[in-house]
Amino acid sequence: IPAVLDEVAPPPPAQPSPLVQPGRLEADAVSAWFGQRKVLDRVSIDIPAGQVTALIGPSGCGKSTFLRILNRMHELVPGAALAGEVRLDGVDIYDPERRLTDARRAIGMVFQKPNPFPAMSIQDNVLAGLSLVGSKLRKSERQDLVEESLTRAGLWAEVRDRLRQPGSALSGGQQQRLCIARSLAVRPRVLLMDEPCSALDPTSTRVVEETIREIGSQVTIVIVTHNMQQAARVSDRCAFFLAAHGTPGVIVEQGPTDVIFDNPQDSRTADYVNGRF
Ligand code: ADP
Ligand code: MG
Repeated sequence: IPAVLDEVAPPPPAQPSPLVQPGRLEADAVSAWFGQRKVLDRVSIDIPAGQVTALIGPSGCGKSTFLRILNRMHELVPGAALAGEVRLDGVDIYDPERRLTDARRAIGMVFQKPNPFPAMSIQDNVLAGLSLVGSKLRKSERQDLVEESLTRAGLWAEVRDRLRQPGSALSGGQQQRLCIARSLAVRPRVLLMDEPCSALDPTSTRVVEETIREIGSQVTIVIVTHNMQQAARVSDRCAFFLAAHGTPGVIVEQGPTDVIFDNPQDSRTADYVNGRF
């Protein structure tokens, strides 16, 4: 009887939170081709919710391709093919019954080169992704969302007095945080970042890394980086990709970041994280 009572008891008063829960991403035996050329071979990974996972490995081993697969962008490339399955919180994101915008809304993407719309105002940049996925909000809700998103991206204090200035008025690091804010405004469950700091100077890089650490518990982050210090600083887990001598990319080893760096199980991982290739 106590068990039954537990079931019917009202839920504890929850703090009203506008933010969605971070999502778990799973890839099962994902292979990818560009035309005849196979570039990923049976990549499997379980990306836990509310953590930062870094994809590391040499140039050309398929990290960006894999990231695009996690967001259904691979299929936009002519001649690209895919096998395997990707699930967000247990649901196949490639299920033809599901609309593409559902996956895109839940899984945001930030690119290497900051790409705000340069002539558009800072506040309109934040809201730009929302119109792409078709959301309609009242004016006061839009203002709240602009503040919330810029605050989460660590940019609010710097831009609150100039929200109507164009995106191009910001520095490179600020532009990248604006792009992060634009992604967060859609309230994704996962944020994918492809070398988000490699176009930035060291100071801006540190600020963006702080932002990644700040939001990494609220939204699952998958970050591609070839900067080992950065992977060590920002990530909870790492997956080491390798494509040896023209073979398709595989994950050689994955696990908690401290294990990958301090106690790797594969000698190739040890060589890579210690800068030996
Ligand atoms: P990484 O991000 O690890 O540097 P990529 O995912 O960009 O690696 O590339 C993996 C392999 O796929 C590389 O050999 C690259 O040349 C090839 N590749 C990437 N994009 C395309 C494309 N659009 N068309 C054909 N080949 C591609
Ligand atoms: Mg890449």
